[in-house]
Amino acid sequence: MKNKFLDKVAVVTGGCRGIGKAIVLRLLSEGAKVYALDYSVPQKDEVFIEDKELAKNVVVMQLDVTNATQVEEVFEKIQKESGRIDFLINNAGITRDGLLMRMSEDNWDAVLDTNLKGVFLCTKAAVKYMVSQRYGRIVNMGSVVGVMGNAGQTNYSASKAGLIGFTKSVAKEFGSRNILVNYVAPGFVKTPMTDVLTDEQREEFLRNIPLRRAADPTDIANVVAFFCSEDASYLTGQVLHIDGGMVM
Ligand code: NDP
Repeated sequence: MKNKFLDKVAVVTGGCRGIGKAIVLRLLSEGAKVYALDYSVPQKDEVFIEDKELAKNVVVMQLDVTNATQVEEVFEKIQKESGRIDFLINNAGITRDGLLMRMSEDNWDAVLDTNLKGVFLCTKAAVKYMVSQRYGRIVNMGSVVGVMGNAGQTNYSASKAGLIGFTKSVAKEFGSRNILVNYVAPGFVKTPMTDVLTDEQREEFLRNIPLRRAADPTDIANVVAFFCSEDASYLTGQVLHIDGGMVM
């Protein structure tokens, strides 16, 4: 185990599966204490983190990021328990795809609520503790489609594009308090979210990726860990694509 993040407390939303779980594992392996917050959490008899040493430093909590009251309560509990919140990884996100003409208001609202309002609520809840400790690292999980758009994903693209503006604004508001805020934009990552794609959709993605492979969740977790590290201490308000060259 490396100790880059020893004494650091990290919060990862959507942290129980996919990219979020890879981030949780990566931060744990660098010595951080990690709170994995998720809508669906592992059952009592389910092993979440196999490595027994790493598992000692993870706390799993149920959280719906769209629920303002619950977000406030959970972040307050984390602060009380740990005394600080150093890293916030706003990773929870959903898709409800469909062409605009057939996009229901419910599917528009659900995606904007989770992917954008959820980030607003969690950031607002965490940043007050970061301000008082004069230290914080926030990484927002965006997407390449927030930059380039995507047919069939008007709701999702709008949420991820909105998140770029949010990231840069928070970076400007809190830079003087040593709170750094960045946005990572994955392309195509192998997770339960993309398992639902058809073979045709998958091939179409791969055709447009110079590296000719989908990302593994660890490819994303590595960059998130970099943004949390001291190596990135002069980076804020940035949008970094992690997409095998898909968008350049
Ligand atoms: P997954 O669907 O595998 O994981 C998303 C996690 O977020 C799930 O655990 C989910 O919980 C949780 N979640 C959803 N809604 C809420 C909520 N209201 N409150 C708390 N947690 C919630 O997705 P990925 O790991 O693939 O995606 C993670 C992030 O990466 C997302 O923001 C996504 O937009 C982004 N991304 C993914 C790409 C990909 O190719 N996979 C590409 C670009 C960006 P539950 O299991 O209960 O639904």
